[in-house]
Amino acid sequence: MSNQQAYSFFQSVEKSFDKASKFTTWEKGLLEQIKACNSIYSMRFPVKMDDGRIEVIEAYRVQHSQHKSPCKGGIRFSDEVNQDEVMALASLMTYKCAIVNVPFGGGKGGIKINPKKYSVYELEKITRRYTSELVKKNFIGPGIDVPAPDYGTGEREMAWIVDTYASLKPGDIDAAGCVTGKPITQGGVRGRKEATGLGVFFGIREVCNMPEVMQKLGLTVGVEGKTVVVQGLGNVGYHSAKFFRENGSIVICISEHDGAVYNENGLNEEELFQHKKATGSILHFPGSTNLAKSSDALELACDILIPAALENVINGSNADKIKAKIIGEAANGPLTPEADEVMAAKGILVVPDMYLNAGGVTVSYFEWLKNLSHVRYGRMEKRFTENMNTHILSQIETLTDRKVSDAERKFILHGPEEVDLVHSGLEETMITATREIMDIWHKNPSIPDMRTAAYVCAINKVGTSYNELGIFP
Ligand code: NAD
Repeated sequence: MSNQQAYSFFQSVEKSFDKASKFTTWEKGLLEQIKACNSIYSMRFPVKMDDGRIEVIEAYRVQHSQHKSPCKGGIRFSDEVNQDEVMALASLMTYKCAIVNVPFGGGKGGIKINPKKYSVYELEKITRRYTSELVKKNFIGPGIDVPAPDYGTGEREMAWIVDTYASLKPGDIDAAGCVTGKPITQGGVRGRKEATGLGVFFGIREVCNMPEVMQKLGLTVGVEGKTVVVQGLGNVGYHSAKFFRENGSIVICISEHDGAVYNENGLNEEELFQHKKATGSILHFPGSTNLAKSSDALELACDILIPAALENVINGSNADKIKAKIIGEAANGPLTPEADEVMAAKGILVVPDMYLNAGGVTVSYFEWLKNLSHVRYGRMEKRFTENMNTHILSQIETLTDRKVSDAERKFILHGPEEVDLVHSGLEETMITATREIMDIWHKNPSIPDMRTAAYVCAINKVGTSYNELGIFP
């Protein structure tokens, strides 16, 4: 058993924080304030089930930090939920938001149920009652605390939450901003589904565009031609694979829970997904070779390894067999602390989950902004931009007496849709965050790894915010 298992989840987050805080100059008291969970709401409420039974539901909402308002973080439905886990996840949200410059404090919610064991009607009653408990205690609102989906929840639950909130706050014109991850028709934003995978791609691409980093790893600059292995063909894995492939990388292997497929010339994730849908498995995909064990994929020689499925998959037992040059942590916690040390010793660059998979929360921020501004992104400027582009292009064509191709014309004239602006905002966010973390690391080479540099980045930002706010008398 590793030392790590002697600590609770929240304590292990505190340990990572303490390790990083040594590379900052904040005074002890301020660091204690940053680490602490500010508000913890532990609740029990009764819900009448379909068979007439009354069940007492255990649920939580934790607001880790109010250095920025509102707090932000998902709500998970799982029978593993407990207060320590919600506290840990809320604190990670504070650091994640700080790194990607999303101006929110961290929050997290959880209901201790296995959603598969309840009817849709029961789930709706539980979700609505949970929301009304949050309203009663002022733990939800567009300026207070804004939940989002997490394990076991999705658009459907977010729609129930916004409907309950709005009905308890009649006339609140900003009610739609009380939760994100809503269906588009209820105030959701386009581009959210692919956000995490696209954010992973943008983050890794930025790392690959840094000549000094690539030189150290013995790699050429850019993602083009780089070999990629992806673990998990779910939402994040599928979209990560898609964006790497579309940008010229070669996705040589994709793994799932029942095995992996390999093709040195590259796999197409959409064709593989259709194959899985038709046959029930990714195995026996035409043109590819099956790998006997799903975990073999992690040990393949490649430039970039993207674990996008489960936590702790790279650990003490397989860390020394990893041959990738870069590991992009798309999943939450795919490396154990033991594995982290092995990677650092081997010179493998681990791009940490805390910011790399922040695409979801970044796009949540865009959704919240859309809700507060009451207008779809692109609505005001799309037509204006297209008219202007048409005019400029026709002037250029007249002056040069040359015509651009139809494909070029389409590209140049195109005015931004909501999804274009969301992708562009995400690209800017991930590039900036990557540069900020790398800058901290380069300025202080005694920082052992990029994960610690990311923590330092978060601590400095939250510390600055608390420092500037001062202390209430
Ligand atoms: P998902 O359920 O859509 O996909 C996970 C996939 O992994 C599934 O297809 C599953 O069959 C597969 N899988 C399970 N065991 C496996 C194994 N042993 N080997 C290979 N594949 C296996 O989930 P997701 O939304 O894609 O999330 C994946 C990870 O990313 C999780 O750690 C999640 O916490 C993290 N994450 C997701 C988001 C998001 O926006 N969805 C945001 C941040 C972090």
